[in-house]
Amino acid sequence: MSNDTDRVKGAAFSRARAERIVIVGSGQAAVELAASLRQRRFAGSVILVGDEPDLPYQRPPLSKDFHPASRAVMPLRAESFYAANSIELRLGVVAQRIDRDACVVVLADGTPLPYDHLVLATGARNRVPAIPGLNLGTSLELRTLVHARNLATRLVELRHVTIVGGGFIGLELACLLRGRDIEVDVIEAGDRLMGRMLSPVMSDYFRQFHTKAGLRLRFRNTVRSVGRDPAREVVTLADGPTINTDAIVMAVGVLPNNALARAAGLKVDNGIVVDAQLRTDDPTISAIGDCAAYPNPFSGGLVRLESVQNAIDQARCVAARLTGSPAPYRSLPWFWSNQGSARLQIAGLAGDGDRPVLRGDPKSGEFSVFLYRGERLIAVESVNKPSDHMFARRILSAGLSVPRSMATDIGVDLRGLAGAAAVAESTPIS
Ligand SMILES: Cc1cc2nc3c(=O)[nH]c(=O)nc-3n(C[C@H](O)[C@H](O)[C@H](O)COP(=O)(O)OP(=O)(O)OC[C@H]3O[C@@H](n4cnc5c(N)ncnc54)[C@H](O)[C@@H]3O)c2cc1C
Repeated sequence: MSNDTDRVKGAAFSRARAERIVIVGSGQAAVELAASLRQRRFAGSVILVGDEPDLPYQRPPLSKDFHPASRAVMPLRAESFYAANSIELRLGVVAQRIDRDACVVVLADGTPLPYDHLVLATGARNRVPAIPGLNLGTSLELRTLVHARNLATRLVELRHVTIVGGGFIGLELACLLRGRDIEVDVIEAGDRLMGRMLSPVMSDYFRQFHTKAGLRLRFRNTVRSVGRDPAREVVTLADGPTINTDAIVMAVGVLPNNALARAAGLKVDNGIVVDAQLRTDDPTISAIGDCAAYPNPFSGGLVRLESVQNAIDQARCVAARLTGSPAPYRSLPWFWSNQGSARLQIAGLAGDGDRPVLRGDPKSGEFSVFLYRGERLIAVESVNKPSDHMFARRILSAGLSVPRSMATDIGVDLRGLAGAAAVAESTPIS
C-alpha cells in the first residue's frame, strides 16, 4: 500500500470514529481491549477472533497452580460477560489474511470481516529449537491450556523431568514438579538463571534457592540430541553426559506471532513495530501485548515485553485512543514470578551495566535489589517484599529516584517517605 493511500486512510479515520473494531487474538490483551472499549462506552461492533477454542483464559496459573479438573479453567471473563457486553467471540478460527486496501480480515474458513480499526493482539508462541531426536509428540511445552492439559494427564507417570531453559516459566514449572516429588534437571545455556531479566546478584540468589529445593541445575549446557532407551527418553547434553528422563519440557522462550502482519506488509522487527501510541505503520491497524515492539520511554529503543501488565496497559491505551482520548503509552513495566515459596517481583527495566544495591538480607528470604545507573534508580527486584515493589512502582512511574543510602538502610521505611516529591528533591535525576 502506498504512503498516499495510508495518508488518505489516516485522515478518513481521524474524521470518523471507528464503528467496527476487529481484534485478532483472544488472550489477555485482546480481552482487556474489548472490555475497556465497552467500559469507555464504545457503541460500535467489537469482534474478537482467536484461534484457540477455549473461552479466553489466564496463562500465568498454567505454570503455577494449574488444576486440570475443570475445562474452562481460569477464564479472563465469565462466558456471560461477552454476550452482556455485545462482544462477538469467534473462537477456534485463524485470521489468515489482512486485505489492507479493502480493510478486511479474512478468516481461515473464508469469512471476510470488514473493519474500521484492526488491532493485532496475536501474542507469541514457544520457540522450539531443532534438536535431533526431539519428538514433539512426547516432549512437552507450556504456553496454552492444551499444553497444560497434556502435561497434567502425564503427571502421575512422571518420576523425572528435564526442563530445557532456566527462565521464569521453566523454573515455575520445576517448582511445581518438585512439589510433587518429581526429580527435575534444568538445562540452561547461559551461566545464570533468568539471565535475560535479572541482575546477577538476584540470579545467584535463585541458584542457591533452587539448589536447596533439590533442582539439579546445569549451566552453560544445551541438549545435543534425544533418544529412547526404550522406556524412557535419553537426553544427551552438549558436553557429553546423558540424562534418562520421563519427559522433556522445552522452555526456551517465545517468538512473536507476527506472520499475519508481515504478510500484510506491516513493519516487523522482533515484533510488530508500533509508534508511541501503539499504531502500526498503517493508521487503521494497532498492535498490543506480546506481539508488539514499541518505543519504551524507560529503556529507550524498541522493546517487546511479555507480561500481563504490558498486555493490559497497552490494551487500555488503545481503547482510550479509539474512544477519543489519545496518549502515548508510558506505563512502567513490571513483572512477577512465583517459584516455590519465593514471590519475585520486578519493577522497571534494568540493563547489563546497572549497579546493584542490596536492601535486606537474602538469607532471610525477604529482600530487594535496587539497581542504579549512575545515581539514578532504574529498577527494583524484590523477593517476598511486596512493599518495596509497590514503592518502586510508584517512584519509577513518576520518573523519580531514591538515594542509595536510603535504599540500603532498612531502618528507612520507604512507605513512610513523604511522597515521591520529597525523594525527588533529595536526588536530582540526571
Ligand atoms: C505459562 C505461562 C506463565 C506466565 N506467567 C506470567 C506471570 O507470572 N506474570 C506475567 O506478567 N506474565 C506471565 N506470562 C506471560 C503472559 O501470560 C503474557 O505476557 C500475556 O498472556 C500476553 O497476552 P497477549 O494477549 O499479548 O498474548 P497471548 O496471551 O499469547 O494471546 C494471543 C492469542 O492470539 C492467538 N492468535 C495468534 N495469531 C492468531 C491468528 N492469526 N488468528 C487468530 N488467533 C491468533 C494466539 O493463539 C493466542 O491465543 C506467562 C505466560 C505463560 C505462557
